[in-house]
Amino acid sequence: MSHTVNGIPASPGIVIGPTWTFSPPRADVEAYTVANPGVEQLRVRAAVAAAVEQLAALEERARATIGDEEAEIFAAHQMLIEDDDLLADIHNLIETRHVNAEAAVHEIIEATAESMLELDDDYFRARSADMRDIGRRVIYALMGVTADVGRLPPEPSIIIADDLTPSDTVQFDPANVLGLATVRGGPTSHTAILARSLGIPAVVSAPVELGSLANDTPAILDGLSGRVTFFPTTDEVEEAQAQRRDFLERLAGDHATRLEPALTRDGVHVEVVANIGNAEDARRAIDNGAEGVGLFRTEFLYLDRDTLPGENEQIAAYRAVAEIIGDRPLVVRTLDIGGDKAVPYLGFAAEANPFLGWRGIRLIDHHADVLLGQFRALLQASVGADLRIMVPMVASVEEAVQARGILNEAQVALHAEGRPQAERVQFGVMIEVPAAALMADKLAEVVDFFSIGTNDLTQYTLAVDRTNERVAALATPFHPAVLRLIAQTIEKAHAAGKWVGLCGEFAADPAAVPVLLGLELDEFSMAPSAIPTVKAAIRRLDRAECRAIAQDVLNLPTAAAVREYLAAHS
Ligand code: PEP
Ligand code: MG
Repeated sequence: MSHTVNGIPASPGIVIGPTWTFSPPRADVEAYTVANPGVEQLRVRAAVAAAVEQLAALEERARATIGDEEAEIFAAHQMLIEDDDLLADIHNLIETRHVNAEAAVHEIIEATAESMLELDDDYFRARSADMRDIGRRVIYALMGVTADVGRLPPEPSIIIADDLTPSDTVQFDPANVLGLATVRGGPTSHTAILARSLGIPAVVSAPVELGSLANDTPAILDGLSGRVTFFPTTDEVEEAQAQRRDFLERLAGDHATRLEPALTRDGVHVEVVANIGNAEDARRAIDNGAEGVGLFRTEFLYLDRDTLPGENEQIAAYRAVAEIIGDRPLVVRTLDIGGDKAVPYLGFAAEANPFLGWRGIRLIDHHADVLLGQFRALLQASVGADLRIMVPMVASVEEAVQARGILNEAQVALHAEGRPQAERVQFGVMIEVPAAALMADKLAEVVDFFSIGTNDLTQYTLAVDRTNERVAALATPFHPAVLRLIAQTIEKAHAAGKWVGLCGEFAADPAAVPVLLGLELDEFSMAPSAIPTVKAAIRRLDRAECRAIAQDVLNLPTAAAVREYLAAHS
């Protein structure tokens, strides 16, 4: 009998096919006493070497098929497993207790993962899952379990799993993955991000009874609505087929026109630009029709290392992007760490509430030098570019003024040193904290532009931790409170003659386009893969009509009412 479960949409598209349930191979570890600890230590060395080799291959594979950012996950895993302290602990345990290699690896990895969990810090919690992932890999190597056998779908299937690690996901042959549904995980989980990069429809937080689901169960997975239907009726299959055809046709049409500008039906040009993290993304952005970059996240230069990157290293990384972007607008965000991304060498301590803690521009008090260094590198890397620099997590006018002062200091110093630097430079702030949105009129007086970060603005306005799966469904930017803050930000900026972009995930949601267009947003910035679809959505709309839509939704009482209204007017 047809049976539907409702999860959270994580990657768009509709697929129909047989299910295949993924379960990691069992690696039940038995502890026993060994006569010769030296042999066990050698086995650990060999297994770690094998794990590193597998991870290097996965890194290569991810780099070739998905992108640099995803490949970095596996580079980080290699670093974790080769950690000297961790290996020393394992060897010591074998030496002192004469236990077998599997038991020693299991015990040390579990203890390390547990202590990371106890830190009550999202960054370390995520690391704890990584730790278990690599522990499993080493134990498989010790037991001679081949990670791949029996773990890969034999034919194109909808993969259902309790949860998937990045290494699980990358090992699947994309040709055999019609779609993905996981019981756990939120829309910002690694699986969701990978699925979007690969263009595979996905649903997360789907309450599927894995125990009673046989392989080859006929199913429909709808990554647009978040629904997964098992044993669909003929009518349901026919309807899904029609929806799938429409979706694919529209996608092909959007792709064909991706390089054309986004002009509304009444002739208003809206800038559609990309969120990127490195040069590879920049290339993909231009291929997908980006008219520039609206958010270059620079954290990657600072993460997974022990010391600050030097000026020359930074210049090289920024220049690689600036050269690809050429004359197009290039909005770079300065270092946004804290929250779920900690950098130990900058003196981060565990915090009870890292998202309310020492994050983003708040580093300026103790690390003005880091910001100055970044400004210097950006200015030197962007000679001839249309450079726009913005700072994250601003909550007050003082922070904006202070940051702008440091930018000015960098410009004056470079001039005095006779070094070439960008001639065209705008300075902006991200609007991510409700206080900043409420103070938009005053902030607009001290900056050249705003970029609204709806991922954080939603989290802070609605008091929902963006990394907490249990409240993931509450974190919607369609909530009228978030929309009112966006409206107010744009209105105040325009009154002061300043432009406004939006670089949170909201900009990539076609359902949000009429509202944002109606609120007169100047620039939409999103993952490169979303650009063709959003450009096409803009072309179908009339801005005058969207103004009326925007005013209507601002007066609705709930996020659900807003979504319903927008669905009825699409
Ligand atoms: C945002 O908060 O919307 C944003 C774009 O920044 P990040 O997701 O990097 O915090
Ligand atoms: Mg943010």
